[in-house]
Amino acid sequence: MQPFELVRAKSPTDAAQLASDTDTLMIAGGTNLLDLMKLQVETPSRLADISRLGGGDIADTADGGLRIGALVTNTATAVHPRVRQDYPVLARAILAGATQQLRNKATTGGNLCQRTRCFYFTNIDQPCNKRDPGSGCGAIEGIAKLHAVLGTSDQCIATYPGDMAVAMSALDAMVHTMKGDGSERSVPVREFHLLPGDTPWRENVLEDGEIITAVTLPAPVSGAHYYRKVRERSSYAFALVSVAAVISIENGVFSRADLAFGGLAHKPWFDPEIGEVLLGQAPSDALFDKAADVLLQSARGFGENDFKIPLARRTLHAVLSQAVEDAA
Ligand SMILES: Cc1cc2nc3c(=O)[nH]c(=O)nc-3n(C[C@H](O)[C@H](O)[C@H](O)COP(=O)(O)OP(=O)(O)OC[C@H]3O[C@@H](n4cnc5c(N)ncnc54)[C@H](O)[C@@H]3O)c2cc1C
Ligand code: SF4
Repeated sequence: MQPFELVRAKSPTDAAQLASDTDTLMIAGGTNLLDLMKLQVETPSRLADISRLGGGDIADTADGGLRIGALVTNTATAVHPRVRQDYPVLARAILAGATQQLRNKATTGGNLCQRTRCFYFTNIDQPCNKRDPGSGCGAIEGIAKLHAVLGTSDQCIATYPGDMAVAMSALDAMVHTMKGDGSERSVPVREFHLLPGDTPWRENVLEDGEIITAVTLPAPVSGAHYYRKVRERSSYAFALVSVAAVISIENGVFSRADLAFGGLAHKPWFDPEIGEVLLGQAPSDALFDKAADVLLQSARGFGENDFKIPLARRTLHAVLSQAVEDAA
């Protein structure tokens, strides 16, 4: 690890001001950033420690939703009574991720901003357009088992590795940010992460010196919540494919179907057309196939990850079938 200076941010605006210097990175739980610094993928000359700022609380919002501070740990979110009662898809997604020790340190902001697990990105001897723009992409013709099949570019085929944001996408959560001048903005989580395009190093819409302060969830709606994560081991592994779903079936037809997918793209994948195909329709295998066709209409594999396309279809079928069984 290269030497660095550690400063403690005094407030969110102070943290944002410190982070506007491109050689400074904010550190929250440190579970992703420190690993990348040890591998010399990240080499900041200064770390701004935000872990002791406020922002570690969960509170009801005026419209019946829930505000989760950026520094709330993943454990605290997953066990919060309102999350468990009103947003179980979020609790399930978080608990499907990492390990208990990691979840005790990992924060809302850090989890949203965690970086890809692409092997070429984390190995500084390999070409990677994300880490070293213009150097090429080792994965496109290399080891691509974990990589994306949707929304890829000829610059990068990495996936976004997180679970929590997939559930937040199904819930249509909002990310709140602040800049060093105190200005704030709110971005739907569905628009927070970016596809790689020609700028794979830009993974989300945060600008230099912009800090996440919180995520808000909308008021709860009725529906059954599912998070199905397909992975190589039953724990301690990232998703090959995951599905977060909030589903209602009333009078024999789908009346709600909000579905987001992990492991398939550079961002949690949300396509409103998938829900539209299902709404007002009676469940059937043919209908589930139609929804999977919409999901996978632009899917493209890179050899090693071709299996993800049929796997995503089967996982979507499994979640929808489970919802039908539970509603019976
Ligand atoms: C072995 C292992 C297995 C894992 N498995 C999973 C898994 O299955 N599923 C899963 O979802 N995750 C998994 N993770 C990832 C883990 O969830 C993340 O490391 C963690 O959520 C990151 O949070 P943190 O607070 O430690 O972030 P940090 O490491 O402190 O920061 C990560 C990034 O976020 C930025 N950042 C932090 N807070 C803010 C903020 N408020 N505003 C703006 N930027 C900010 C930092 O500058 C940094 O770039 C795993 C990690 C490990 C090490
Ligand atoms: S897939 Fe993206 S992160 Fe991985 S090597 Fe290619 S450019 Fe880098």
